[in-house]
Amino acid sequence: KAKEAGRARMTLYDPAMDADRGERNALELDLRMAIEGGDLQIAYQPLIDAATHEMTGVEALVRWNRPGHGPVSPEVFIPIAETSGLIEALGLFVLRKACETAKQWPELRISVNVSPGQFRNPAFADYVRYVLKQTEIEAKRVTLEVTEGYMIQNPQRTRQAIERLKALGVKVALDDFGSGFSSIGYLRQFGFDRIKIDRSLVMDILESDRQREMLQATVALARSLDIPVTAEGIETEEQAIAVRLFGCDTLQGYFFGRPMPADQITERLMQARAAKVTTRRTNAA
Ligand code: C2E
Ligand code: MG
Ligand code: MG
Ligand code: MG
Repeated sequence: KAKEAGRARMTLYDPAMDADRGERNALELDLRMAIEGGDLQIAYQPLIDAATHEMTGVEALVRWNRPGHGPVSPEVFIPIAETSGLIEALGLFVLRKACETAKQWPELRISVNVSPGQFRNPAFADYVRYVLKQTEIEAKRVTLEVTEGYMIQNPQRTRQAIERLKALGVKVALDDFGSGFSSIGYLRQFGFDRIKIDRSLVMDILESDRQREMLQATVALARSLDIPVTAEGIETEEQAIAVRLFGCDTLQGYFFGRPMPADQITERLMQARAAKVTTRRTNAA
């Protein structure tokens, strides 16, 4: 009996839970200061043309080096930003910074992730328009990546939000397709410009027939709706070859490049330009 009572009390008051909450509050506070101080970094990961293996774009991925703790994964702090009202400021920072940075790479497209918390705001399209104007980037070079979570709950508002964004001239991509509750219906009704197949679907295609068939079916579905497909999480050359055969036109993954600082992207671009000039000369000779 005493033991039971003790256990019941434990569920009411658990010091470990207090510690968790304390740590979470501290993290939230640090994150708030990082956003206000502009102390977030952005890494850029190459997006690769499947046919030529040329870099045709980059995805902006936010990075946070928490003082006294080291790097924190966006998988950890994005959900916290979402629930603590920080996501709009964070998202605006990333969008503006990424667009500004991408201006020095005229041959590249720039992809930016958008959280449901931003997307949900009816004024979101307005602030995207404002950032486009401010940074003077061509709208058609910008892709906003959204995940499906919110769409299932609010298909009507999602459709409106996507329409408003597309009216600005930006592209809208469905991110992490195949990781959750994805359905054919969404692909049809929302008018996405592109879908990105989640890494979990790409991971085992060479080892597992079932995984390969799932991936093939998913790509075939998108293609039947005329939606171009990016494969995420390409880590080997074999995977790159396979997903291209299945119909993905854009590839992304460690095999082609990890997320990296902007100047490394610039370096790559300069190398690519130099290689092109050399090829042209050789062909002419
Ligand atoms: P995501 O948008 O699906 O981005 C791709 C994630 O996969 C990135 O993780 C990237 O580093 C990782 N990745 C890319 N290629 C490979 C590969 O070959 N192998 C493996 N194992 N991983 C690979 P990251 O940067 O940790 O970001 C995680 C997620 O956090 C993103 O997934 C996105 O949902 C979210 N996120 C990142 N930056 C932002 C942002 O600025 N705003 C919002 N709202 N979300 C963001
Ligand atoms: Mg993404
Ligand atoms: Mg993704
Ligand atoms: Mg993801």
